[in-house]
Amino acid sequence: MNCKYRYCGAGLPADTNGNRHYCDDYCSYEERLEREKERYNKKKSTLSEMTRIEGLLRACHNQYGESPFDVNILRSLGMNWTLYSSILHAEFGEIRIVGSLGYIVLENFTILILKF
Ligand SMILES: [Zn+2]
Repeated sequence: MNCKYRYCGAGLPADTNGNRHYCDDYCSYEERLEREKERYNKKKSTLSEMTRIEGLLRACHNQYGESPFDVNILRSLGMNWTLYSSILHAEFGEIRIVGSLGYIVLENFTILILKF
């Protein structure tokens, strides 16, 4: 077995018991820092993607106000449909919330943007 610290990977002594994953506390601590860094970066990139999507929605809202427009317009701007902060269930469908805006995809491929 090898040390699980990604920048070490040294072979652990053969007589090591099965619970040992690191050379020592240093390797264990460093690997934990790396994992925290990863979590932080992931959070940060999700956050900046949310900000980007919110910007797209805002731009469209500025242009179309609260009237439906062709969903392909938003698609061609590089809309990411997989990220939203929450979903509201309304009578006419589900509203996906992104920051202070929300959108709802209507029938006939139109989309409506709402400001909260
Ligand atoms: Zn190590």
